[in-house]
Amino acid sequence: ETKKKGKHGFSIYNDSMAHHHNKKIRFKNDIDKAIEEKQFQLYYQPQYNLNAEKVVAVEALIRWIHPKKGFISPTDFIDIAEQTGQIHPIGKWVLQEACEQLKIWQDRGLAWKVSVNISPKQLFKDDFIELVFNIISETNIDPKYLELEITENIYINGEYSIMKLRKLKELGVSLAIDDFGTGYSSLQYLKELPIDVIKIDKLFIDGILNNLNDLSIIKGIITMAKTLDLKIIAEGVEIEKQMEVLKYLGCDMIQGYIIEKPIPINELEERYLHNKKMT
Ligand code: C2E
Ligand code: MG
Ligand code: MG
Ligand code: MG
Repeated sequence: ETKKKGKHGFSIYNDSMAHHHNKKIRFKNDIDKAIEEKQFQLYYQPQYNLNAEKVVAVEALIRWIHPKKGFISPTDFIDIAEQTGQIHPIGKWVLQEACEQLKIWQDRGLAWKVSVNISPKQLFKDDFIELVFNIISETNIDPKYLELEITENIYINGEYSIMKLRKLKELGVSLAIDDFGTGYSSLQYLKELPIDVIKIDKLFIDGILNNLNDLSIIKGIITMAKTLDLKIIAEGVEIEKQMEVLKYLGCDMIQGYIIEKPIPINELEERYLHNKKMT
């Protein structure tokens, strides 16, 4: 692409944009390679039930360990992978891997749920329901222990998404709305969604102790969730006092550094399952 320089010597398509563009292409190739060479890993973050006072579930979170660049955060590549379509092979790998892990635990009699993040791009692909069905069948898991997390945003809207979510529910899986409160859902709309769990975004948890608005919003979400018979998970709980307030407000579960960071499978098993009777 050639863009003429303006009379003041700058162009619209400038060097920095070209640089950015090239960087994106290199990144795309890197992701292709990562898929081929299996540079991805799943880490797991415990979800803690405040009444039972124990870990009852884990969220699978993707990690990219690049041979040269080292650790790359999902917030730095999921967006690009969504734009390039690479989210489809990545997402398929994540679901497959998480279900294989779930199967191992189920065979050992452990009743932990495994939660998997699904990008709206995946949800809206024509064969997504079939993909989930196939992975459930092939791994032979009990689907009621598989939870799919879908972010609350403008893409999740209207009849088409409700229909897709209903079909997922028919497969027997559990559905969660991720990052709740940051998107555009109206209460009316939430009522129509066939969901089981709401995850309150960290943004509100951060303010729970010193921002009355955040506290009121959390109270409101919990009250509404109970009315609609939904479970609540608070995300990004970092300190004891936040946990106490959430318990007092009737929040069901928490997830955050106060319990554990996302960790690799061997650490998770060592810390939570080693020498423990599995029930
Ligand atoms: P998310 O699904 O909302 O996941 C929660 C994020 O918050 C994770 O970041 C987790 O490490 C972080 N977190 C949990 N507790 C705390 C806490 O107490 N303090 C702080 N500061 N952070 C906490 P992570 O792993 O970097 O993932 C970021 C986002 O990337 C995820 O947000 C999710 O939207 C996306 N993502 C991760 N794995 C996948 C995946 O396999 N597929 C898709 N489509 N998206 C994924
Ligand atoms: Mg999530
Ligand atoms: Mg979240
Ligand atoms: Mg998020």
